[in-house]
Amino acid sequence: MSRTLFVTTALPYANGPFHIGHIMEYIQADIWVRFQRMRGNTVHFVGADDAHGAPIMIAAEKAGRTPQEFVTEIAAGRAQYFAGFHIGFDNWHSTDSPENVELSQDIYRKLKAAGLIANKTIEQFYDPVKGMFLPDRYIKGECPKCGAKDQYGDSCEVCGAVYAPTDLKNPYSTLTGATPVLRTSEHYFFRLSDPRCIKFLQEWTRGANALGQPRLQPEVLNKAKEWLAEDETAGGKGLSDWDISRDAPYFGIPIPDAPGKYFYVWLDAPIGYLASLKNYFDSGRAKSIGGTAQTFAEFLADPKTEQIHFIGKDIIYFHTLFWPAMLHFAGYKVPDSINVHGFINVSGEKMSKSRGTGVSPLRYLELGMNPEWLRYYIAAKLSAAVEDIDLNPDDFLARVNSDLVGKYVNIASRCANFITKRFEGKLGDHDPAAAKLEHDSAFAQDEIGRHYEAREFGKAIRRIMELADAANQYVDACKPWELAKNPAGEARLHCVCTSALTLFRDLTIYLAPILPDVARQVAGFLRISLSHWSNVHTTLAADHQIGFYQHLMNRIEVKQIDALLGLGPEPAAAPAAGATPPPSGAAGSHISIDDFARIDLRIAKIVNAEQVEGAAKLVKLTLDVGETENGQPRLRTVFAGIKAHYKPEDLIGRLTPMVANLAPRKMKFGLSEGMVLAASFPDDQGGVYLLQPDSGALPGMKVK
Ligand SMILES: [Zn+2]
Repeated sequence: MSRTLFVTTALPYANGPFHIGHIMEYIQADIWVRFQRMRGNTVHFVGADDAHGAPIMIAAEKAGRTPQEFVTEIAAGRAQYFAGFHIGFDNWHSTDSPENVELSQDIYRKLKAAGLIANKTIEQFYDPVKGMFLPDRYIKGECPKCGAKDQYGDSCEVCGAVYAPTDLKNPYSTLTGATPVLRTSEHYFFRLSDPRCIKFLQEWTRGANALGQPRLQPEVLNKAKEWLAEDETAGGKGLSDWDISRDAPYFGIPIPDAPGKYFYVWLDAPIGYLASLKNYFDSGRAKSIGGTAQTFAEFLADPKTEQIHFIGKDIIYFHTLFWPAMLHFAGYKVPDSINVHGFINVSGEKMSKSRGTGVSPLRYLELGMNPEWLRYYIAAKLSAAVEDIDLNPDDFLARVNSDLVGKYVNIASRCANFITKRFEGKLGDHDPAAAKLEHDSAFAQDEIGRHYEAREFGKAIRRIMELADAANQYVDACKPWELAKNPAGEARLHCVCTSALTLFRDLTIYLAPILPDVARQVAGFLRISLSHWSNVHTTLAADHQIGFYQHLMNRIEVKQIDALLGLGPEPAAAPAAGATPPPSGAAGSHISIDDFARIDLRIAKIVNAEQVEGAAKLVKLTLDVGETENGQPRLRTVFAGIKAHYKPEDLIGRLTPMVANLAPRKMKFGLSEGMVLAASFPDDQGGVYLLQPDSGALPGMKVK
């Protein structure tokens, strides 16, 4: 029975570009979503920018913009990441939206009607110069314990003491430097300590999702149990009421019937999941993707709908306590699963947003690195556990080059061209000796599917690579390249390549959630559908016509990783085969690195240069490209159209790059065996300039 899923990723705070941690989460969720769709399930996958709060208000002011202008600019930069890494959100919205205002105020009113909103007067620091109450992060002072200066309002970075901002000695506002004063203000609280909330959360956190599996991972449930424990002697702190209001000036959603009061950003942020979904349904686009005729309200009320959130481990508290309780007591659907992941570190170092260390996703794209390399690597490292993963450059290189290219792509590259060249692109009978292998490959789908469902992507990849190993062993044993040498091996060659391509087809289906672009290319070249998980059970018929195989993926080069990590010179951007060209700076059409590699560029020494009798433009060059013939240097003749720009005698002895594999051309004056390279504008305006390598280059060196 097919499922209907509403899937979200955590809403990124709209005060800066995405970092690698965001991209990891989006890749994780996107892989899971693509897998669900391949199973025939309907998925609505949405996200939004988390736009409200004091930090954005203050950042916008510094940038000389309104907060709305500020977050709109940030939002405009998001699409390049989604396109670049093949992240297929159905809708991307903002918490600063009419839908979110409507939903947040509705949820608040219902919580209030349920008796779960309380008012309390609290004392808080106020910046008399700025005219606003100060969030803790904008207050500094001397540590009350050790006296260290310039410590934040919640804890001391020197001695580790934890305290309230009002405990700081000589406090000051980081916004104005003014000494803050204590003022009272009425705040609104969500009564999370209410026994009804505790009881509901104790049940909800222990509950199961639609598949009957625990909705929380074991380590997440343990954390929630700790927070929920009412008995403090058992180590639990119990739940406190949650302050959900902030005083003006604040960039946020007004609290109904409470002038000058706004919802704290963390109240309306998760409601942004629903706001994005509502925007998507109201626009009519949900219908085109899911085929649903439901409205937003009907969709949420449908018991068949499963609501699934992917989040990082830093926001478990909000998503396992506040969020489900808010929804439940406002009469909304509650989440079915909260899927929590750890952080991503680079070479074992914790990523720091403030210091900006780590790998820049945009730089990755700008360097022309293939997004599917990163998707594959991250998938290989991910499990269902709340564990940090490490982006280790050597490991990244090894896994992509040896597994993905060396094992998976290799199968197709070794077999496809025989089908095209020898059998007019038509498949043959399957090899009876490969029957068990083909059977095992197709029937691995249950196990691999279970791993995907459970977000055990690393285990899925290990199983897929076992199948790739078996397929390669089969090809190695059958040696199609040997069979191809002997006419008697023709029939067997046809069978072996047909079976090998069937195994390759299965691997492609299994990898499709991770490598959507490669899967699209393979579907095009094999001329079959790979969009459904059950396609592994479709037999590729004899006489099935396939298209031309084009190389699917290049290896990562060390210099690319060095450039990504800022360790070396920046290589010229060379989009890998199958890579989506980065939207920024992409000019015209690209060629692949393989296209470039077909040009044999070599350093030549001009050993002689002379005028050509009767030629208006040509100079006859005799070039040493480091070649020998029968033990003697073999020199080449090239006619170059540079007579108007160089005196022949000035050219003798110079080095210049040449195209060494240009087809020889018979000219009126003799055979020209290549081409030297020179720089010029169209029509040679401004002159023609022969290229020259740096000193040290030798004749015969390859230019690459
Ligand atoms: Zn201290």
